Amino acid sequence: MATDNSDQSSTSVAEIATNGNVILVVGPHQRRIQVCSSVLKNASKYFNAMFGPHFSEGQDLRGDSPKEISMPDDDANALEILCNILHLRNDVVPETLDPIKAFEIAVTADKFDCIVAVKYASMLWLSPKEVQGIIELGYLMAAAYILDNARAFSEITLAMILRHKDCYLPLADKDVGLVDIVPWKVFYFLEERRNQMRTKLQKILLDGASDAGTDDHCNCSCGWSSQHGFAYMKLLQKEELGPLQTLSTTISGVLEKLENMNDPTIPRGWVPCSYRWHGDPGYRRRRKSRLDDFKKGNGLCIDCVRSSTTAAKQICRTKH
Ligand SMILES: [Zn+2]
Ligand SMILES: [Zn+2]
Repeated sequence: MATDNSDQSSTSVAEIATNGNVILVVGPHQRRIQVCSSVLKNASKYFNAMFGPHFSEGQDLRGDSPKEISMPDDDANALEILCNILHLRNDVVPETLDPIKAFEIAVTADKFDCIVAVKYASMLWLSPKEVQGIIELGYLMAAAYILDNARAFSEITLAMILRHKDCYLPLADKDVGLVDIVPWKVFYFLEERRNQMRTKLQKILLDGASDAGTDDHCNCSCGWSSQHGFAYMKLLQKEELGPLQTLSTTISGVLEKLENMNDPTIPRGWVPCSYRWHGDPGYRRRRKSRLDDFKKGNGLCIDCVRSSTTAAKQICRTKH
């Protein structure tokens, strides 16, 4: 993955380890990164083999000047950040990263077999909080998948379910490059979970219609339940929260509407009778409790995505 488009001079050296015995010459623009071979060997099986006795890169590492290692096909930006992490250069490791950069670093860490070493640094990058676009969320999801971060994978896929109303298939476009990394199952799971959540939301919407009761009692002469139920359905209509209307908005959008929705307006001129059990239906209180329950749901389970559908029951790190 040679995506280095930096205009950084090929003669300047990024001194990650000032007295490092190796200079990696990376990418088509030949970014020069000075590192310590023993640090890379400790963190990465790939570098351990490369700088071992069986490869030319491992010879003459104790010379007077650092040995240059050519890596023309690698991503210079990603490898530089990775080397900073491995050398504990936290002063230059970015706290935030574009999702695609996080993805490229995850791919690079996977290639060099040092995923464990980036575990803590990557926790900062894998937050879906500020990420809105589905493709960007897709890159973040793939990064969490590569880095085997179950919690981030669940949070990111939940954001993909809540914040996206359209088809997930653009994520599978060859140009995006995710289908080579994550299994197709993810896209089915996303669609399935979104459908389940939409159905649960519809149930919450309809549950409100019976908050004032379902049958008018024989001692009630004012049609309390029917009046309230009818007013509630009219409110849903006004708020454009019918089953088909909610399909054209995101689940987050529906949740926001529900959280801010007023109580139904009972027709003017209607007077309740004196039946003793008529009281406030508590629309908001009941709805809040249903929504709180709804929001406890997690995103996708990385272990179910990773496992074969016919495999024996495995341990799932995400509750579901
Ligand atoms: Zn009544
Ligand atoms: Zn699972």
